[in-house]
Amino acid sequence: MTKHTIGVYKAYKNSGNLRFHRKGTKKSWKHYFIDDDYERDDPEFFQTEWVNPIHAMILKKKQLYKRQFQCHECERIWEAYVPKNATEIECPECD
Ligand SMILES: [Zn+2]
Repeated sequence: MTKHTIGVYKAYKNSGNLRFHRKGTKKSWKHYFIDDDYERDDPEFFQTEWVNPIHAMILKKKQLYKRQFQCHECERIWEAYVPKNATEIECPECD
């Protein structure tokens, strides 16, 4: 499987569903990614994992961003996760 990073944020590790984090817990880096083994409507499509600070910095550099594209041929508009500097990607309709 390939992990596509869509976010790297700091979060409290033991917060769970509680509003307040436990005493003594430190913030850690959480990696949000897409696993391309899953289909888009699969609930496991978006996943998270804890990573160390060094790994978090590396992931941030390779992070993908949700952007909107429009095809010049069929005028279809769609959203995709792409690298920061990507300007155009292939149309899923015309391809
Ligand atoms: Zn098109």
